[in-house]
Amino acid sequence: MANEKKKMVSEITSMDEDFTQWYTDVCIKAGLISYSNIKGCMVIKPSGYAIWELIQKHLDERFKKTGVKNVYLPMFIPESLLQKEKDHVEGFAPEVAWVTHGGLEPLAERYCVRPTSETLFCDYYKGEIHSYKDLPQVLNQWCSVVRWEKETRPFLRSREFLWQEGHTAHATLEEAEERTVQMLNVYADFLENDMAIPVIKGQKTEKEKFAGAEHTYTVEALMHDCRALQSATSHNFGDGFAKAFEIQYQGKDNKPHYVFQTSWGLTTRTIGAMIMVHGDNEGLVMPPKIAPTQVVVIPIQQKKEGVLDCAQKIYESLNDFRASIDLTDRSPGFKFAEQEMHGIPIRVEIGPKDMEAGKCVLVRRDTREKYECAIDEVPSKVGELLETIQKDMYNRAKAHLEAHTYVAHDKDEFAENFKETKGFVKAMWCGCRECEDKIKEDYNVTSRCIPFEQENISDKCVICGKPATKMVYWGRAY
Ligand code: AMP
Ligand code: ZN
Repeated sequence: MANEKKKMVSEITSMDEDFTQWYTDVCIKAGLISYSNIKGCMVIKPSGYAIWELIQKHLDERFKKTGVKNVYLPMFIPESLLQKEKDHVEGFAPEVAWVTHGGLEPLAERYCVRPTSETLFCDYYKGEIHSYKDLPQVLNQWCSVVRWEKETRPFLRSREFLWQEGHTAHATLEEAEERTVQMLNVYADFLENDMAIPVIKGQKTEKEKFAGAEHTYTVEALMHDCRALQSATSHNFGDGFAKAFEIQYQGKDNKPHYVFQTSWGLTTRTIGAMIMVHGDNEGLVMPPKIAPTQVVVIPIQQKKEGVLDCAQKIYESLNDFRASIDLTDRSPGFKFAEQEMHGIPIRVEIGPKDMEAGKCVLVRRDTREKYECAIDEVPSKVGELLETIQKDMYNRAKAHLEAHTYVAHDKDEFAENFKETKGFVKAMWCGCRECEDKIKEDYNVTSRCIPFEQENISDKCVICGKPATKMVYWGRAY
């Protein structure tokens, strides 16, 4: 039994040896994806897609509470439409895929496969918005987009990915700003409370902001290997797109005004974040709120009389949870290893001796702690444990983030931090592009964000020594 378990577990690379390989192994061995024959595009298998469905459910509920409605727009963008906003097209041109033929006929105008849908929403809003009474427009679409990435990784960076993209139009800049911040807070709340991933909220620098945005807000997370991951973004466009697309409304003053717009997106990348924040050498560890299966019942010596019946009863008592029962004739050791690989938060072990004593054993995936439990108390104990696991996972991730956040007062400290230790480094920055570029050149790190929660570490830029008022989080990102 132990050997069989070991065999299965040893199939994944140790995360301390090779984190990148460990990550890929988990994606495959936990049955989340398989590679397709299109480079950079993956098959999201049932176990992976079930996670995405829960992400959608949790996010969509939050969106709707803030008045968001869902729509669906075409997946193609005519070239002339994409080109209307200069910064936007420049930013995306290197990454778009083009459709040049319809059947056998060359198209008069080529179409790109949407890398994001600002231009389509603008074209649509232009027809919908006439008066102040048509505002605000608060729409979202769940779809896939295509960006021809050079380097790809499952979930983290794929050429086609699933996401939601919210697009809104408002009468005033203040209202647009409020929505931009509101949606960033929705993402932070979702990531922290459902995915158990602590995040740093802040603003992207000019260099890192979205193509065509006035400014971009981001939530940044720290992975187990101490690399940073941009986990979702929210953009305020001001009236830039409205001017490019001529989207005007007649105000209460009877005069024409441009609208102010926002967009915000979260993708299948968050599944990658969940793997890299919570996973361990046994495989995936899923936070209970996002786990497609929260508890699995595993009978031991299931051929002994009464064991299967008892396991079945326990399983049936768990219908308040996403529960399953493993009735296959594989060995318990194999089943345990599989539960661990798949990251199911709790397993219930029930064998003949336990059964006679009216007990069973609950095992937590995250800490592997075992609890004896009276059979009729299983549902309440499972409910309690799931809550504890969810909280503990968040707290561990938060402790990891804090333990790997460093402060650099000057250039030497900055260099020292990025020589050996990895993680976030907080440092003062003068705000100029040259210093940001120099940091990238010398230390191969990027600005992750200018956090909303500022600290005054010193009054000088770590690079040029000139006066600085902004504290920035720096890191090596995925
Ligand atoms: P953007 O529209 O560029 O702001 O992207 C929205 C979010 O999508 C980003 O914050 C990233 O977290 C995520 N993202 C960007 N590119 C990819 C990709 N190739 N695969 C998966 N997720 C991505
Ligand atoms: Zn500087």
